[in-house]
Amino acid sequence: MKYCPECKADLNTRCVDGIERLTCSDPQCRFTVWDNPVPVVAGLVTYRDKLLLARNRAWPEGVFSMITGYLERHEAPAEAIRRETREELGLEVGDIRFIGHYPFIAKNQLIMAFAVRAEGDIHLNEELSEFELLDLNQIRQKDFGRLVVTAKIVSDWLARVTP
Ligand SMILES: [Zn+2]
Repeated sequence: MKYCPECKADLNTRCVDGIERLTCSDPQCRFTVWDNPVPVVAGLVTYRDKLLLARNRAWPEGVFSMITGYLERHEAPAEAIRRETREELGLEVGDIRFIGHYPFIAKNQLIMAFAVRAEGDIHLNEELSEFELLDLNQIRQKDFGRLVVTAKIVSDWLARVTP
């Protein structure tokens, strides 16, 4: 962002509340780019006693992760993951458990991760190209590579469900 969206003046970098931020150069306006993280829900889906991971159409071969999505206005996070599971996989969610909050600094997101049990027949929407079903041993051994946030969520979930 180069110009103020409120008054079109130049944006300058200035220290606000101890952090360097882009602010409007017009002292009458003082518009500030706060750059707050965007909340995102993620679902670690259990389907027929296996963990379901999916590959986004835009991702390279072999890269699978949880399903994710943004919240709609007025939507609670648990409702959002229920809706995303229905939209992306065609599955109905039963039990939902919160796993934790995870900062995804590279994308300035705060991921709210849920473990969900889902039922029905899988119908992938246009965002996804394929899915895989893994048992506990397979998920424990899975190398998530650069998906470090996914690896952390899965490992926290495994620590909770297995002795
Ligand atoms: Zn301005």
